[in-house]
Order: sequence, then structure tokens, then C-alpha cells
Amino acid sequence: MKALIVVDFTYDFVVGKLPVGDPALAIEERIAELTETFAERGDWVVMAVDLHEENDPDHPEAKLFPPHNIRGTAGRELYGRLKDVFAKYADRITWMDKTRYSAFHGTALEEELRKRNIREVHLAGVCTDICVLHTAVDAYNKGFRTVIHEDAVASFNAAGHEWALGHFKGTLGAAIARKGSIKEEA
Ligand code: ZN
Repeated sequence: MKALIVVDFTYDFVVGKLPVGDPALAIEERIAELTETFAERGDWVVMAVDLHEENDPDHPEAKLFPPHNIRGTAGRELYGRLKDVFAKYADRITWMDKTRYSAFHGTALEEELRKRNIREVHLAGVCTDICVLHTAVDAYNKGFRTVIHEDAVASFNAAGHEWALGHFKGTLGAAIARKGSIKEEA
């Protein structure tokens, strides 16, 4: 069994308060397709979703980014086609709130992966060079094999996106997959 972790593909991160914009819209279909494929196959699928409180000046992101993904707001809803796929497979997909960049930080992700005996995690979502990167770094340090779907990750920072793809491969030893690649079909 494998896991697909979809990071932060919410309204706020696609077109809302902290928008990636066009690069995120460009991966909407692929993220939905991957989610459907993994769920249909019986792999474990996780929606790792940023959760912030309103007026939380001590949060480390407070000085770095405008408020986003605030509890109870529509900005935290999954975006577009992914929202439909999530509704369709709600019984097979785990929603996991996170309060930091990494999906591992302060969540039950590692424990749930170990419980299921999962050694390989596939990552998709936004932003390539922030939350996907920090999740991949933690996966590396915890000894999980990691596969990055390069056609299902995006960033508002094109240079950061490219740098992160190189880092995943060259430094974290991750496999880079895209639609039709052997790794993707496995
Ligand atoms: Zn955040």
C-alpha cells in the first residue's frame, strides 16, 4: 500500500487569499485524477490542509504571509475538481489539518502511515517549494520513500518550483513522476 498526500489544494491557495494562481489552475485536473486513481486502487489518500486561527500574531507565518486558510472559512475548502473527487470518495480519503508547512508537523500522519505499514509516500499540491518541500524533507528524515508528481505540484515562485524539483531528486533522493511514467503506474 502507498499513500498519496495532497497538500493545501484549497480555495485560498489556488485563487483566494494566498493564491498560486495560473500554475495551480494548471494542475487542477491532474490532482483530481491522481486522487481518484489512488482512492480507486485502495491506497491511502490524505488531504493535508493548512489550518490557521484568526488573529494569531504569534504564529510564525503571521509576519510572512497574509492571513489564509482561516478556520471556518470557505478558503479552506478544497478547490475545483478535487472537491468533487473528495466528496465522491469521502469514505476512503482522510482529511488532516496541519498548522505548519509540513504535513508531518503536529499531525498523526507518521503514526497513521506506520499503522498501515506504508513505506512510500506520493506528494502533490502547493506550494512546491514551501509546504510540499517541508513535507518531503520530513518524509526523508523519517525514512519514507518519496515520489513527487511534477505535473501535480505548483508554486507562485517559478524559480523556487524549479529549485525544489532539483532538491527533491538530488538531495532527498525522491523519484520524480508524471502522467504516463513508470513510477506513476506502479
Ligand atoms: Zn499557512
